[in-house]
Amino acid sequence: MTKLQKLLEIEGYTNLTELLAANITDSVCPAICMNEGCNYVCEMEPDQDRGWCEECHTNSMKAALVLAGVI
Ligand SMILES: [Zn+2]
Repeated sequence: MTKLQKLLEIEGYTNLTELLAANITDSVCPAICMNEGCNYVCEMEPDQDRGWCEECHTNSMKAALVLAGVI
């Protein structure tokens, strides 16, 4: 399972289209930690590609829109 699929599952979306429809106009977007074994999720700027993970203490968070290649 990719990080994007995991993020969709955690946020309760069945596919990417649903997530995009729910988030495309918002100023925040769900983001997930890219580190192996960490699935920390929080809201971040939609174009965030190196956000701070509270669990790992690394800049490893990527927003769903970045993962999806929309931005
Ligand atoms: Zn993490």
